[in-house]
Amino acid sequence: MSISTATAGTTMSAPSGRDRPIAIIGAGASGMLAAIKLREAGYTRISIFEKKDDIGGTWRENRYPGLHCDVPSQSYCFSFALNPSWRQTFSSGPEIQSYFQQVAQRYGLRNLVRFNSEVGTARFDGKSWQLTMTDGHVAHADFVFAATGVLHHLNYPQIAGMEEFAGLSLHTGDWPDGLDLAGLRVGIIGTGATAAQLVPAIVDEVSRLTLFQRTAQWVAPSPNPAIPWWRRALYRLAPWVLRRRYRMLTDEIEATAGRWVLKDSEVYPRLVRTCQRNLETIADPELRRKLTPDYEPGCKRQIYSSTFYPAIQRPNATLCTEPINRIEASGVRTSDGALHQLDVLVYATGYRMHDYMRPMRISVEGGTSLDELWSDGEVAHRGVAIPGLPNFFMLVGPNSPLTNYSVIAVAEMQMRYLLELLDRVVDDGAVAIEPLEQACRQYEDELSQAMTSTVWATGCNSYYLDRNGRPNTWPWSIDKFRRDMAKVDFNEFRMSR
Ligand code: NAP
Repeated sequence: MSISTATAGTTMSAPSGRDRPIAIIGAGASGMLAAIKLREAGYTRISIFEKKDDIGGTWRENRYPGLHCDVPSQSYCFSFALNPSWRQTFSSGPEIQSYFQQVAQRYGLRNLVRFNSEVGTARFDGKSWQLTMTDGHVAHADFVFAATGVLHHLNYPQIAGMEEFAGLSLHTGDWPDGLDLAGLRVGIIGTGATAAQLVPAIVDEVSRLTLFQRTAQWVAPSPNPAIPWWRRALYRLAPWVLRRRYRMLTDEIEATAGRWVLKDSEVYPRLVRTCQRNLETIADPELRRKLTPDYEPGCKRQIYSSTFYPAIQRPNATLCTEPINRIEASGVRTSDGALHQLDVLVYATGYRMHDYMRPMRISVEGGTSLDELWSDGEVAHRGVAIPGLPNFFMLVGPNSPLTNYSVIAVAEMQMRYLLELLDRVVDDGAVAIEPLEQACRQYEDELSQAMTSTVWATGCNSYYLDRNGRPNTWPWSIDKFRRDMAKVDFNEFRMSR
């Protein structure tokens, strides 16, 4: 694979202040982005702290069969490092991880990363942050970028008897390489985007597949054609064609998936019709009934798959909608008394999305801590900074547009905003910057008000909701997000010298 780069990440000689140390936490897509953009802006002392031994974040961690991205590959990449070589419309996990490795290589990022360095605590002393790793190592930085992502704290259900299961049990986010399921009886708990990919990938290999569904999902069809060799060759020879494709896809997603969440948008009825028609393709009326959600399309994260419905209709597949009573040594006991005997039990039960950079302990000397600041829910001004935590910035923080849109594009917009913020502090020779509490509160009020007209507020249970039942995502169009991120209003921030 080769990657075309509009602007390569070269280290320039540092103008005044650009040598202040910066720590990035996490070497996933947004951490890599932060490093590339900071270097392009002339910052010279950048360290990335990564808890594991490779870059890639969630794409390094997730290795379950069928893993792919349901955002088209040609838009799920850095806008400045488009990839002419994607083989599928929706690429596999390994191909995406390989893309990130290529980018890391191209931009010389590995030299910046301290692998196997998990930040345990971060403490601000009024001038700089002290980061203490879980192994005791200490580092200092004037500014911290938390690029920790949201898909890394595995969410296990709490079901009685889980520890009694005598077969192999595993979470999809912890899939062992080379696991052979041939001829085994496999149970899967969960029906989110992950299960929708896993079921079709293994159904023909296993002897029996039982999918335990608590809540049905709306599924929109999404064929995944290969990108022909001649098209890939064209992208390589004429990068402008690839750039045009990126822009076209991004615009298209913004106009569809980006607007579906706004219930009164003109495209929402199209989503409803598409999902309903797809459901009608299920031949058995009883199975169709079981797979019919009792909430509105888009309320949970939309599933895109052309293979899930065919797979669950295979003769060796069963959809079990009886609630799980408990797990026993030989399988799953449902509330009707039936025992579903299993060799392997898979938890496709997602992530604790609202943990963000926790369990890291973050505090300010003589001030407050993140746990206190977030005791009532996760809040960040414009998704990127927290009142009370100076010089601490987040990528893909609370209320970022995290639906069926490219999270990489979101991080790019946030990074642009954060660079403007950082440049101002550094150019003014200030010590620190943080958002005003009042500005953040006003922003939160606007978010809450706008949230009421979104599809997430129509009464389903989803991971978009925080512990107070409030949708913790973006209630407006992507275009508004881009406009908001295009210019910092410095009246919303306080700088200190
Ligand atoms: P998820 O969407 O959070 O779904 C978790 C599933 O587990 C739900 O069906 C949930 O049921 C079920 N569940 C949880 N606890 C349960 C319990 N105690 N008993 C029974 N069922 C239980 O998780 P995911 O599918 O792993 O997706 C996680 C994230 O990864 C999402 O953000 C998704 O977008 C992302 N993802 C993205 C892609 C992509 O292609 N871009 C692919 C895979 C995953 P309820 O619905 O009843 O709560």
